[in-house]
Amino acid sequence: VKRTSSHLADGREIIYFDPDDAESREIIDARKLPSVTSNSELRYDFLLDEWVGIAGQRQERTFLPATDECPLCPSREGRLTEIPSSDYRVVVFENRFPAFSMNAPDTGPFVDEATTMFARRPAVGRCEVVCFSSDHTKSLADLSTSEMRLVLDAWVDRTAVLSQLPEVAQVFVFENRGEEIGVTLGHPHGQVYAYPYITPRTRRMLIAARNHHERTGRNLFDDLLVAEQLGPRVIERTEHWTAFVPAAARWPFEIHLFPHRRIPNLTALTHAELDDFADLYPRILRALDGVYDVHMPYIAAWHQGPCHFIDSADSALAALHLQLFSIRRAPGKLKYLAGSESAMDAFVNDVPPEFAAQLIRKAML
Ligand SMILES: [Zn+2]
Repeated sequence: VKRTSSHLADGREIIYFDPDDAESREIIDARKLPSVTSNSELRYDFLLDEWVGIAGQRQERTFLPATDECPLCPSREGRLTEIPSSDYRVVVFENRFPAFSMNAPDTGPFVDEATTMFARRPAVGRCEVVCFSSDHTKSLADLSTSEMRLVLDAWVDRTAVLSQLPEVAQVFVFENRGEEIGVTLGHPHGQVYAYPYITPRTRRMLIAARNHHERTGRNLFDDLLVAEQLGPRVIERTEHWTAFVPAAARWPFEIHLFPHRRIPNLTALTHAELDDFADLYPRILRALDGVYDVHMPYIAAWHQGPCHFIDSADSALAALHLQLFSIRRAPGKLKYLAGSESAMDAFVNDVPPEFAAQLIRKAML
């Protein structure tokens, strides 16, 4: 893969990913842009032992622009976008409205001295946008194997680079698709968040894995994968990956994709594993759309181990996997996170996982 890095007019980094034999790029952003400011901060929720990002400037971000005003389409004469080129394959750039930023302002003392009950820290980190294709009308499901492979190269690169930053504790590669999910731009794209702390879900999974290891001497993810591979919820098993609906799926349609080798993050995938995934994943996404013959709104989330383990014994506990789920439970019906889920974090799923697996399998080509 050929990687070309440059800077946008306001100093944000932009990185192009092209095939090896592509011509060199000359990147000049001719826009006049005010510099990016961030007023994000992290506040500590003492009740739940979790950090919450407060990012007021994100209210101003671009919201559902008309197709001819899309900021992720290539630039053309008279209309300059975030991508200062007339064409591209895969592009990554720093978000103009970042929830986490290396320029996050200082927030003063860590703990409020008078009460000791209010803690805050700068929302240091990085938020990036990953454009999957220059074609506004495409989606990840439409990509060819080689196009998907280039997206994977970009995901691997971002995980490798951002994990090296001393401020970053965890790299989260994800895609939200569909207005129903809250996507504010129609162009096919995903995001990368580099968090300065370990996220609550990852922390809980690591605790579960540690407890399982203490109880059994084995790895939780290894045991889960072997068990699911024997069961009725497998969507497809290839040479290097197994896709299945988990036994306790929380969402109407939820699919987990595990590599057969337990590895901590995307950077440890071999070429063979990447190639295999690039073929499998768009087919799974098309099957998801095929279930009801409508574009399914979905969230696709790469779960990766934390970057710097405090206790190195934990590093063997984490296991890279992709969690893909839709909030659509029937044509015309969405699953909303209501009282039980939102207030209690107690999920009730209306679609039995075995039935969901059947429907998705039927839609696989
Ligand atoms: Zn576009």
